[in-house]
Amino acid sequence: AKRDGRGTFRFFGAEMDLQVQTRNRLAHDLRLALSREELRLVYQPFIDARTGAVTGCEALIRWQHAEKGLISPADFIPLAEATGLIVPMGDWVLDQACQEAVQWPDSRRVAVNISPVQFRDHDLPERILAILLRTGLPPSRLEIEVTESLLVEEVSAALDILRRIRALGVRIALDDFGTGYSSLGYLRIFPFDKLKIDKSFISDIAERSDCQIIVQAVRDIAHGLHMTVTAEGVETADQAALLQEIGCDEFQGFLFSRPRTRPDLRAWDRWQRAA
Ligand code: C2E
Ligand code: CA
Ligand code: CA
Ligand code: CA
Repeated sequence: AKRDGRGTFRFFGAEMDLQVQTRNRLAHDLRLALSREELRLVYQPFIDARTGAVTGCEALIRWQHAEKGLISPADFIPLAEATGLIVPMGDWVLDQACQEAVQWPDSRRVAVNISPVQFRDHDLPERILAILLRTGLPPSRLEIEVTESLLVEEVSAALDILRRIRALGVRIALDDFGTGYSSLGYLRIFPFDKLKIDKSFISDIAERSDCQIIVQAVRDIAHGLHMTVTAEGVETADQAALLQEIGCDEFQGFLFSRPRTRPDLRAWDRWQRAA
């Protein structure tokens, strides 16, 4: 039994070594990805639920690895966070997104995901301002998306940085709402502009009344606190019709558009006509 135990231990040890090696290799490649221009952004539109107009797009990062092909952000963002690479990468994302959005017609906004790790640098508001000034994008056309995990550790520092970003005139959205561990109390201490209801609540909404009840409750809280509500991950016409009835303000999802290199800024009325 003792030998079995050691054998098992050795096995796990070797497997762990391999994982560490793979991870180090990927971290090394990620460090080079920026200068090798392997990173790019794709854009997915937000649709105004009432008018069908495209009100803006969310920027989503993609990594085209030379040998491994397309790597999902779910696989490399955690690595970028663990290595601190997320900071220069996050600046690059902001810069690219603002450069792109300044070319869009009228008041369309661009939303950028910001990792909690980027908030450890207290200069984040100044860096955002510098990027806005350099690209010429009006602050009101930039929206940053943060998740509830930001509000779990070091709340007061995070809130201070959020307030300074908002004082620039940049909008702030709470992403993946309903999936984190934060309490509703955070909605009292920080005035978000927008709540994005996580797609896990949207995917079952046509079949499950409990999801409908939750979305209705989130709508009431958000509107009561002067925030708008975006439903993310809308994939079917049934879901969109229900969410429109419930009174969500904005939609985002494959039903309207997948994320694309050249954002599709045309209005939703194509879909409305088809429905
Ligand atoms: P997220 O911010 O919640 O972004 C939404 C994700 O859902 C995106 O995945 C998007 O492609 C996907 N999606 C959109 N509509 C639908 C739909 O109708 N159905 C389904 N099943 N999925 C849909 P993606 O692009 O793979 O990004 C995954 C996550 O990676 C993002 O989740 C975000 O947390 C992170 N991420 C992406 N880009 C960035 C970035 O530039 N910076 C940071 N810090 N994180 C990023
Ligand atoms: Ca997001
Ligand atoms: Ca989300
Ligand atoms: Ca998410």
